Amino acid sequence: KRMTFKGKRAWVTGASSGIGQAVARALAVEGAEVVLSARRADRLQSLAQELSQQGALVRVEPVDVSDRAAMESLGLRLAEGGGIDILINNAGTMPISPIINGRVDEWERMIDVNIKGVLYAINAVYSGMAERKRGHIVNVSSIAARTTYPSAGVYAGTKHAVRAISETLRKESIRFGVRVTDIQPGSVDTELPDSIGHDKIRGIVKSNMYGNDSAMLKPEDIANGIMYALSQPEHVDVGELLIWPTRQE
Ligand code: NDP
Repeated sequence: KRMTFKGKRAWVTGASSGIGQAVARALAVEGAEVVLSARRADRLQSLAQELSQQGALVRVEPVDVSDRAAMESLGLRLAEGGGIDILINNAGTMPISPIINGRVDEWERMIDVNIKGVLYAINAVYSGMAERKRGHIVNVSSIAARTTYPSAGVYAGTKHAVRAISETLRKESIRFGVRVTDIQPGSVDTELPDSIGHDKIRGIVKSNMYGNDSAMLKPEDIANGIMYALSQPEHVDVGELLIWPTRQE
């Protein structure tokens, strides 16, 4: 066990699967205390058990990131416990469909989770970071923050928004010494396509990308990129990291 992040407290949203789970593991290995959030408390508990058996300090804080009041009260609890040094703003959902299908509930869900959830988490930790004049916020956007595809309009809209929020926050944070990193993964083999409610689109996404290991990234590949950004000296801020599977167009 290495101890690069000993004494640091990291909060990972969406830690119950995929990229968030991989980052939580990587942070724990490096000695950080990790706060695990997502809605599925059972998954968080078993991850917490795994990590604490390896000697990590872990805390489980189930929350729906789109619940403003719950995020505000969690923010207060985290501040009382000494604040957060590293936020991995990762929770997200991808119920994509053509705009003409008018799946308004799913649009609202993506906006609530992917944009508002990201903002609520920033708000929960930011004043503490600004006061202490240090901290690192890692927002997980996507290659869909730079481009878009048919059916991905609203999802890409949310990820473009995350990227804009990251870029703005980095500029506003200069005087506080707070670092901001926007991570833009290509296709990663996770549970994300399960959030697609449109049966045909979900089938297309899964058959195009899934089951072909070499065409996709693993959650650990993104965790490695995030750990790279977090491991730089204080005067270095990796602003953006775009990570493609070698074989993705
Ligand atoms: P997963 O579906 O495996 O993980 C998503 C995580 O977000 C889960 O832990 C889920 O937990 C959590 N989550 C979803 N909705 C909420 C909510 N309302 N409140 C709290 N937590 C929530 O997918 P990934 O690991 O792939 O996704 C992580 C991030 O990476 C997302 O922001 C996604 O957009 C982004 N991304 C993924 C790519 C990919 O190809 N997989 C590519 C580019 C970006 P729970 O259900 O327990 O709440």
